Amino acid sequence: MGISQSIRCKTAETAGKLSKYLTKLGSGMGKSFPGYIYLRIGKRECVKDLSRNLKIGSVIITGTNGKTTTTKITALLLAKDTSITYNYESNTINAIVTGLLTGNVELGIFEYGIRDVKNAIPDTVSKMVDPVGVVYTNVSREHSQVSGRKNPFEDYLRAKQLLSTPMKRGIVICNADDPRTTYIGKIKENDTLVTYYGLDIELEDKTPLTGDVFCPMCKENLVYSKRYLNHRGIYRCSCGFSRPEPDLKLTQLSSGEDRWQVNVEGEIFNYPTDQKISLDFKVEIPAFGVHNLYNLLCAVATYASFTPHPENIQKTVREACDEIDLSILPPGRFEIFNVKDKLMENKLVGMGQGDNGDALKANIQFMETYVGKDISSDTAFIYNTPDEGEDEIFEDHLSSMISLNPSIVHVVPGRESVEAARNYYNILKKSLPADFYPLSHEDMEKRIDKIRELVEESPFKYMIVSGCGPEQYMWGNLKSGCKSLQESS
Ligand SMILES: [Zn+2]
Repeated sequence: MGISQSIRCKTAETAGKLSKYLTKLGSGMGKSFPGYIYLRIGKRECVKDLSRNLKIGSVIITGTNGKTTTTKITALLLAKDTSITYNYESNTINAIVTGLLTGNVELGIFEYGIRDVKNAIPDTVSKMVDPVGVVYTNVSREHSQVSGRKNPFEDYLRAKQLLSTPMKRGIVICNADDPRTTYIGKIKENDTLVTYYGLDIELEDKTPLTGDVFCPMCKENLVYSKRYLNHRGIYRCSCGFSRPEPDLKLTQLSSGEDRWQVNVEGEIFNYPTDQKISLDFKVEIPAFGVHNLYNLLCAVATYASFTPHPENIQKTVREACDEIDLSILPPGRFEIFNVKDKLMENKLVGMGQGDNGDALKANIQFMETYVGKDISSDTAFIYNTPDEGEDEIFEDHLSSMISLNPSIVHVVPGRESVEAARNYYNILKKSLPADFYPLSHEDMEKRIDKIRELVEESPFKYMIVSGCGPEQYMWGNLKSGCKSLQESS
């Protein structure tokens, strides 16, 4: 690196840190503005410098669902053993660089969302940040249209893959139960260490897949001997591609009403000490659904791979699991709570975003596991539709709702187009009893009020409110609106 280049990087670091200080005084843009300033002055080449300031390095977490929860739990675990900087709900390099500007810490933990290759720059980000870990939660089809362009699933998977492609050292962490992340891992095994995590529990997803799952190697249909959650399970293909034995797994799940107990077991490679670590211990966790079991397992795998104190693993995981409650879930995510309806009857409401087929299905499964019985005959579903051109997401949603078979589906537009919502409703009502509320996107308050009213006036004991919707604003307001029905009792 030439002298002028290194001066440029230093200047950028100073300006970035200064703006980090300034944004602390204000609010709002603090998560990405300092990074933006840094990149304006310093250019991309300087980011490697920042990343080298971390003693162990950077770990980037990506996937379709569960990124934020996984990042938060990973940060909670690692912060007990070492000094870290972290950033969640970030989709840009600016946000990651803002995190890196913290300076003197051992590890950086960053969530990075990738929708497609055009809008994200996964391989550039990987080259700039030079991570020692890339972590995959899962890959499901979503956002089949991004910024008005078709985004085929193959391109979407390829974009996720590109985030770890430039890595020549460190660990790639993949979900063994998800054939797509396993595929990324199998190819990556050629040049780095790959760690797989997976479930080994009795609980089974008996509802049909939301669509055929193709072998990522040869495009034939995959055959499942067991499914834990939609396309995640034990699979194989005639070409020889199959679910690998996980290095770290959760076994012996016993589910109580509020708390679950599960065994953490396996042999995992620890990067800072360059050693293999054997683990076998029980933990108690909140009863938060199979999807969160995956998030927890992914976080534990990441933590165990990168903690500089592997001797602490059992103690730290137990401590953190005692602290975890549902408040760790991001505001839009699915939560279950009690409300009183108009007749002062108790009603159990499951509410939160499920903007792709996999997420909506996880929400339904969580509700069923929580109640512990078949709820179809006493359930109303308030379905927030996808937008125009998102037919594939709708198909996935529909198949999950059909397998739930609720007594009624109230259809409301989840995104901008009311006409698209009406079209989806016309298809949906051929399979399920349904009605339609053409509420406009512009009048969001009215949309929220109507949904709350539907919850309050429904004669059914269980309500599921899910589907698409503008991330946190709508779900946050809707939840607080519905929870006020709790208190008014
Ligand atoms: Zn195959």
